[in-house]
Amino acid sequence: MQADESPSQDVHIALRDIRKNYGKAVAIRDLNLNIDRGQFTAIMGPSGCGKSTLLRCLAGLESITTGDILRSGRSIRHQEIWEREMPMVWQSLALFPFLSVLENIEFGLRMSGVSKGERHRRAHEWASKLGLDEYVNRSIDQLSGGQRQRVALARCLVTEPSIILLDEPLSALDAHLSLQMQAELKRLQRELGITFVYVTHSHSEAFSMADKVVIMNEGRVEQEGAPQEIYLKPATSFVARFLGGSSILSCTVKSTETDEVLVDGKDGTFRCTSDEFRTLRVGSKINLIVRADQISLSQESGWADNEVYCRVVGEEFVGALVNLQLETASGSKIFVQLQQRDLKTLDIEVGAGVFANWHPEDCHIIN
Ligand code: ADP
Ligand code: MG
Repeated sequence: MQADESPSQDVHIALRDIRKNYGKAVAIRDLNLNIDRGQFTAIMGPSGCGKSTLLRCLAGLESITTGDILRSGRSIRHQEIWEREMPMVWQSLALFPFLSVLENIEFGLRMSGVSKGERHRRAHEWASKLGLDEYVNRSIDQLSGGQRQRVALARCLVTEPSIILLDEPLSALDAHLSLQMQAELKRLQRELGITFVYVTHSHSEAFSMADKVVIMNEGRVEQEGAPQEIYLKPATSFVARFLGGSSILSCTVKSTETDEVLVDGKDGTFRCTSDEFRTLRVGSKINLIVRADQISLSQESGWADNEVYCRVVGEEFVGALVNLQLETASGSKIFVQLQQRDLKTLDIEVGAGVFANWHPEDCHIIN
């Protein structure tokens, strides 16, 4: 741990107005972000939005075009890779195939001139912490995907960095192994108190492990916050669409006379009672958003104050839940999440017609 890193400071890394150009292309634009010390920050966003570039700029593998990177308040913009001590784990892992597991793990220590005995001691210690005791003398190609993943982690952690960068480290693993590694990564991060900056395209990885989720869009931060906060309240329709599972309907405010605001859309008139509707004027255009778990389905009309007739166009089973995609007559997409047993009771399948219902208090507005 570097001398300037006292645990009382909360912001470990501050990214200030970062821009990264590749010729005329802008990979990162005016990005501002605080990465908290000892926390697990997950960075998500569509392919090409600048996630890997951001990690490479942090590690010092790329220089930033403008802006500054502060570590515990001090600029590291001009520091070399080795001075930054921010090791990175890639999807490809980049292990050395001609070295044994132990030699791979101790590689960083060898580069920084640590004596042979000390190197071995620390490499064995980390091999043991990651359950690799039995494999230290094997070559990399004699390991499974999950074991290689652990070697890559051990190789990073053996130098005892205060921060590590991970770029989609689990995306090459099968679903079962990925779940197991998620639990291990989270446990390690908590136990060691290391700052993790973790890039992923997987919602479940980000939302299950992170203390803070950052959603990027075209080189900027679109939204950041605790996973639950982002899930419950996506700030923009970009975030809602990226995370999926919410229905977004463009509407115009029709009346605001009572506590219930009425809005008109292509699919009918909807009643809305949450506070955010109170300040609207008649004629304003809004995007109405309703979460998938707040919509229920019925064969008959008249179940809730808001309803729209839809056709089921897709279904996806996830454990005990089912995610349904519906479409209204005007082509709007409605997303519904149900318990599988409720789907059975309803007795509907792809192609069937059904009413989607939701309560006035579950209508929200999104930019
Ligand atoms: P992500 O990891 O989110 O998929 P990247 O950070 O890899 O996105 O890329 C962000 C943007 O920068 C993309 O448009 C990509 O084509 C561009 N880019 C990345 N690396 C380079 C490079 N070395 N030269 C030119 N353009 C690049
Ligand atoms: Mg990438």
